Amino acid sequence: MPSKTYSCETCPGFCCSYDEIFLTDADLARLGEHLSTDAEGVITRFTKYGMYKGKSRYPLMLKHKADKHFGTICTFFDTDLRRCTIYDARPAACRDYPHGPKCGYFEFLQFERRLQDDDTYVAVT
Ligand code: SF4
Ligand code: SF4
Repeated sequence: MPSKTYSCETCPGFCCSYDEIFLTDADLARLGEHLSTDAEGVITRFTKYGMYKGKSRYPLMLKHKADKHFGTICTFFDTDLRRCTIYDARPAACRDYPHGPKCGYFEFLQFERRLQDDDTYVAVT
């Protein structure tokens, strides 16, 4: 597999602003252990419910909070350090993203930073 061409360490965390970060049962168990609670505790404190295939309250998605760059962002994101605070226990959806060696947002970000001649510029789509 080709090596990755993006760097999350220099990115403001655009993917964490996606509104729909779904949780599986395995994610709930992993998060529960990490946060010293159980699946129900994770659901109550950190998730919101959505609509999916006509069913309400399913699947579970991570709650959001306010973010100065992207409007809202995942409840587990540190908005000052621009980092995930539960990285080792993050959901499968976060582990899998961006599904290959390239990240579209990171390429866009690099392009904009070159254009603005500013390595700290935060591109919003
Ligand atoms: S948008 Fe891409 S580069 Fe930025 S944190 Fe997410 S995966 Fe990493
Ligand atoms: S759990 Fe972590 S990696 Fe996943 S969206 Fe939230 S802050 Fe980002």
